[in-house]
Amino acid sequence: MNVGIVGGGQLARMLALAGYPLGLRFQILDPAADACAGQVAKLIQGDYDDEDCLNRLADWADVVTFDFENVPAAVAQTLRSRVAFYPPARALAIAQDRLCEKTLFWELGIPTPTFATVDSLEELHGAVMQVELPAVLKTRRLGYDGKGQRVLRAPEDSEPAWRELGGVPLILESFVPFEREVSMLAARGRDGEIAFYPLVENHHRDGILRLSRAPCQAPELEREGWNYARRLLERLDYIGLLAIEFFVQDGRLIANEMAPRVHNSGHWTLEGAETSQFENHLRAILGLPLGSTATTGRAIMLNAIGTLPDRAAVLAAPGAHYHDYGKTPRPGRKVGHITLRTANPEDLPAGLERLLPLVGFEPGEFG
Ligand code: AMP
Repeated sequence: MNVGIVGGGQLARMLALAGYPLGLRFQILDPAADACAGQVAKLIQGDYDDEDCLNRLADWADVVTFDFENVPAAVAQTLRSRVAFYPPARALAIAQDRLCEKTLFWELGIPTPTFATVDSLEELHGAVMQVELPAVLKTRRLGYDGKGQRVLRAPEDSEPAWRELGGVPLILESFVPFEREVSMLAARGRDGEIAFYPLVENHHRDGILRLSRAPCQAPELEREGWNYARRLLERLDYIGLLAIEFFVQDGRLIANEMAPRVHNSGHWTLEGAETSQFENHLRAILGLPLGSTATTGRAIMLNAIGTLPDRAAVLAAPGAHYHDYGKTPRPGRKVGHITLRTANPEDLPAGLERLLPLVGFEPGEFG
């Protein structure tokens, strides 16, 4: 079976690597000649809206998926008129717009921060009254890893924030003084079967995910997360893997955003679950039975940002697994990750202390 992927970053690369044992073949569309998935699959180098490239991908593939959520709507439309295209274009369109996304959460009874749409400075003043400060002003579209956001603490922060972000549609949402951040990943197959992964705890620095712990061992929150994920998957008639990020406040989940794709907070599943998120995404979009999401121990995933850790030092640590995405190192860029997986939870703290300095943290950070 032939799988086309729009976008050739590390997610596409890990999808391909997970798909080869199943006998799948991959072609990747990406404008960059050095797209890192191109090291492991055939690269069609071209712009995402290049008709000729899209036709080549659609003619060759049995199914097309994507590795980033800013696939232009017109591209999704062209592809779905030619070939099976999953996750559904509607889920993609909703996830591209924070207002549509939060409105859908609200319709489904999934708690969100209070939010208001902002298209002018006057509207921002009104939204500040409605949402109350502190609040976060965000671009509705094209924001990621904390980019395109400003925290407003006092009314006089409104005008500078508007000057920096205004001119494009914005959303103001209440600032959630969260206890922690968690994410829920679930896959839904073509026949409607759903597989939920355990709830994962995430730690960010400067808006970028740095560490995930799985499972996060909060059974009530996990049940709540499964319930919310099911509502979204069924409403969207979703096929593939969906990630939902939540804040935890007063012991309840508050939805922040969703990603209609495999997700950084699910990389631990490569070693820490019976079936990885990458394999389950492929199984789902190809109409194959989903695999078990049971954990194979406790796992901690550490992102390598900007530079790769020393390979030998990582591999010398018991239970550590090294992932190099084959990207040119650059500040702020996700270039790889480490997963620490152990059957014995008591081994985790010492393993983590050993690995943290290798990815630029002090021992003891992240509790
Ligand atoms: P986002 O791009 O929406 O995922 O935001 C990136 C990070 O900014 C989140 O992981 C949070 O740490 C923080 N953040 C975003 N929105 C809020 C909010 N409404 N309240 C508090 N922190 C937030």
